[in-house]
Amino acid sequence: MGYLRYSDVFKNRDRIRELRNSIQGQVVLPGEDNYEESRKVWNGMIERRPEAIIRCKGNRDVIHAVNFARSNQLLVSVKGGGHNVAGNAVCEGGVMIDLSLMRSARVDKEKKTVRVDGGCLLSDMDQETQAYGLAVPAGIVSHTGVGGLTLGGGFGWISRKYGLSVDNLLSAELVTAEGELLRASREENPDLFWAIRGGGGNFGVVTSFEFRCAHIGREVFAGIIVHSFENAKDYIKFHREYVRSLPDDMTVWMVIRHAPPLPFLPEEVHGRLIVAVPFVYLGEGKEGERLIKPLEQFATPYGSMMGMIPWRDWQTGFDALNSHFARNYWKSHHLEDLSDKCIESILSFAGRFPTPSCEVFIPHMEGAPSRVSATETAYAFRTAPFILNIHARWEEAEQDSGCITWARDFFEETKPFAKGVYVNFLSDEGEARVREAYPEDTWNRLVEVKNRYDPTNFFSMNQNIKPAP
Ligand SMILES: Cc1cc2nc3c(=O)[nH]c(=O)nc-3n(C[C@H](O)[C@H](O)[C@H](O)COP(=O)(O)OP(=O)(O)OC[C@H]3O[C@@H](n4cnc5c(N)ncnc54)[C@H](O)[C@@H]3O)c2cc1C
Repeated sequence: MGYLRYSDVFKNRDRIRELRNSIQGQVVLPGEDNYEESRKVWNGMIERRPEAIIRCKGNRDVIHAVNFARSNQLLVSVKGGGHNVAGNAVCEGGVMIDLSLMRSARVDKEKKTVRVDGGCLLSDMDQETQAYGLAVPAGIVSHTGVGGLTLGGGFGWISRKYGLSVDNLLSAELVTAEGELLRASREENPDLFWAIRGGGGNFGVVTSFEFRCAHIGREVFAGIIVHSFENAKDYIKFHREYVRSLPDDMTVWMVIRHAPPLPFLPEEVHGRLIVAVPFVYLGEGKEGERLIKPLEQFATPYGSMMGMIPWRDWQTGFDALNSHFARNYWKSHHLEDLSDKCIESILSFAGRFPTPSCEVFIPHMEGAPSRVSATETAYAFRTAPFILNIHARWEEAEQDSGCITWARDFFEETKPFAKGVYVNFLSDEGEARVREAYPEDTWNRLVEVKNRYDPTNFFSMNQNIKPAP
């Protein structure tokens, strides 16, 4: 069934009044207050104008919004934190179900769990859990949405020790395409529970997530070592081996980019190409220092900072580099190995970043997520040691073509070293590429669940798993 972008229902004042009366939140039409702000997403490349934005305040609003869209055969999109680089949170025409008014989080201190609303940002979740020294493994930029991040998998600084966001998900409440409120957990609707742990927003609107929390305290040992780009080849060869020898309490990533004006870097380094090595250790500072020393001593770094840092400060530390509304195009893949040839390609493309805000970001994975069976959740590519993220980022529309071409060429050249991709790092790359985010048996099982819960593909504005009833 095809869903409509444009419909006469929006000209029917009685119908719109009826809709407004049924919604506790807001129904916002083009030209009205909050419309421009609500339709925007993180990626400034995305310019779409829904016919209506329904800003929901709770389960009942989401049910009304879904029923309104379905009964009028309207295209829908669902906005959590609006961060997805593909821009699927907003549709051209149709109805955007905006969850940004649903942002409360409640901790159960005894059980060490937290229930967060579907529109929460990571900062909302951290703020609540950290009051008790708790944390949920999630992403590294605090204005990212819990919703999209979790539905795709979700990983961050503490995942190597505590698993992915989906590995800590205990239950979720969601509104299906039929407007039914369901609970998904190991006991209730387990097929759905399996699918929403990696299958994205294909199965319903999640109004709340319940997570198990880890007790990490309020401070972690963390820091950044900054090496020069001239040494990069030898450094990366060392890094690829060393980080794989570390315990799961230590997470060390690598970013190649132009140096931001970090206070611990000499001024003459600002703007130069660097290899930045940020890390987090979940343990005593002394042991963290010992573990990180070889990476610091490999060559004299341009600069470094490290120490016990409040978790919430660390979690917000990268926000400014990832501010909203710049133009972004991402390509990504899981790397089976950071082979010498792969390093050569990486350095060759990093040596010609089309703008100073572009970066190559290489997180080290493994640890707890890799010990979970590939069939446990729809997030199945669990064993790749590294991810290669190619982040093209720029300001002006005239730079679109140069930046996108650079990212695509880089991606093609590094394809021989890759297998699979994390669904949350996909841009708008077409159906075949979405399939590459899942092994074949996972994909087939996802299609079965889609057939059961959304046979008309009502939820299609996502990395779409088409039903095949
Ligand atoms: C700056 C930045 C940093 C990032 N860092 C990380 C990281 O450290 N780790 C990581 O794993 N990922 C990271 N990501 C990727 C991130 O996981 C995805 O972009 C994710 O989709 C963001 O979720 P969102 O709710 O903000 O996005 P949105 O754009 O709002 O949503 C994306 C899609 O998810 C679905 N969706 C969202 N919320 C709901 C809901 N409640 N119910 C049903 N469907 C929903 C919709 O289908 C929507 O199309 C990062 C992204 C950015 C831009």
